Amino acid sequence: MVSVFSSCPFCGNSAYNFAYCIGHRNFPNPMDTGICESFGVVGCCNCKEKFMVIFTTQTSIHEKAFKIVNLESEELRIKPIQFKTFPEPKRAFTNAMFPDVINNLIEEAEFSKNPAVKAMVCRSIVEFTLKDKQIGTDKDNLVNRINKAYEMGLITKPVAEWTHIFRKIGNKAVHEISVSEKEANEFLAFVKIFLELIYIIPSKVKEYST
Ligand SMILES: [Zn+2]
Repeated sequence: MVSVFSSCPFCGNSAYNFAYCIGHRNFPNPMDTGICESFGVVGCCNCKEKFMVIFTTQTSIHEKAFKIVNLESEELRIKPIQFKTFPEPKRAFTNAMFPDVINNLIEEAEFSKNPAVKAMVCRSIVEFTLKDKQIGTDKDNLVNRINKAYEMGLITKPVAEWTHIFRKIGNKAVHEISVSEKEANEFLAFVKIFLELIYIIPSKVKEYST
């Protein structure tokens, strides 16, 4: 058994991931440095997706891995000198214009495989955004904050209505009523538009009008 330390491009988890196979190494170069490049197909121990990891390691480690990859009786963990994955990791929709809290939440929402968690995180993003823009007070729940955002001209009526629709999906997730994958993904897509409206467009307007 061989595992290769790598970061899953699907869920972002970094761990020693089980290798289904290890490829031949690149032909040794004449100035053999004792280091070679190889690749393996691994399965993420977190989300179970499979991906390819292209890595450099000591030639001796590669040789051993190549030999024992299908043997259950032996175990080898490879910590590559360098690695990249195929597919490449998907990038979260983060932006320097968003507060750090929001960027962290977006990553969590993007990489979450659980629709209820994804919807709950999306709901938190909407709530945090309104708090960040000082819409409402601590006494206001999300319903009031959305209404106030409309009254104060931060969002238009259709956007407010749209936000309420997704707020309800977020509530479903909080109250442990099942949320479908489609609903959670649509909520995330909405959150991206919402953040663009609140953080990116106003700063673009400023940029072009000065
Ligand atoms: Zn994964």
